[in-house]
Amino acid sequence: LPDPDVEALQHADVAALLPVPAADSDKYRRGVVGVVAGSARYPGAAVLAVSGALRGGAGAVRYVGPGGDAVIAAHPETLVHAGPPSKAGRVQAWVIGPGLGDDEAAMADVLASDVPVLVDADGLHNLAPARLRARTAPTLLTPHAGEAAALLGAAREEVESARLHSVRELAARYGATVLLKGSSTLIADPAGGAVRVNPTGTGWLATAGSGDVLSGLTGALLATGLSALDAGSAGAYLHGLAARQAASTGTPLTACDVAAALPETWLSVTA
Ligand code: AMP
Ligand code: MG
Repeated sequence: LPDPDVEALQHADVAALLPVPAADSDKYRRGVVGVVAGSARYPGAAVLAVSGALRGGAGAVRYVGPGGDAVIAAHPETLVHAGPPSKAGRVQAWVIGPGLGDDEAAMADVLASDVPVLVDADGLHNLAPARLRARTAPTLLTPHAGEAAALLGAAREEVESARLHSVRELAARYGATVLLKGSSTLIADPAGGAVRVNPTGTGWLATAGSGDVLSGLTGALLATGLSALDAGSAGAYLHGLAARQAASTGTPLTACDVAAALPETWLSVTA
């Protein structure tokens, strides 16, 4: 029997959420995404998060971090800034964490902003609920099961065996919208309500860097003004569908392939 507390995402719901630029649109109104990601150890995560944000329709992407050279080499349209994030100029949503390592100063700076923030990967380390509860704008956390377990102080197996309970518990405890990644991605709001389940995706997505693309993509959707629940839902749906389309011939895919497939995916959802 269908569970009334769980909603499967549908093609038409997602299509209705995707932005269409107005004829007189400008890049600032379309949504500027700030990406704080990458480190000397993981420069590629910055490139992948930026590519997700650009392919997610951002009007502009501002990158803050040590990976500027790699980001510019891959995506010359990026605006690169030397930190701190709050000095980078106007941003409508932040993405922080992929490949970042521990950067307490950048975390504090971004969480102090009054725009939506997506926190992923290293940004989820040592995250105190009180810091998120003090925010005036929505926060979206995007852990995989291991990161969710650390946030809950539980074992990974406990999360895997009770994913629905875990995502609800995380959202309630942290006062944030939570997107729990995995073979079926779940998205829950802190106020309760139905948990969204993403039906797209493929096992080929279990590849390094694919989560970084999702972060950037979802950040771009947040920057257009979608709620954290809707941005997370549409982001997960497009990401999973892009992977399916990229792997349709049954071949392995890379995170770059997922980002490269996004334009065709976008078209197939909106057409
Ligand atoms: P990360 O662990 O941060 O690299 O993110 C991995 C991405 O791949 C997330 O979007 C997951 O939902 C997705 N993913 C991982 N494993 C699977 C799977 N077995 N089936 C479908 N999607 C998956
Ligand atoms: Mg990840």
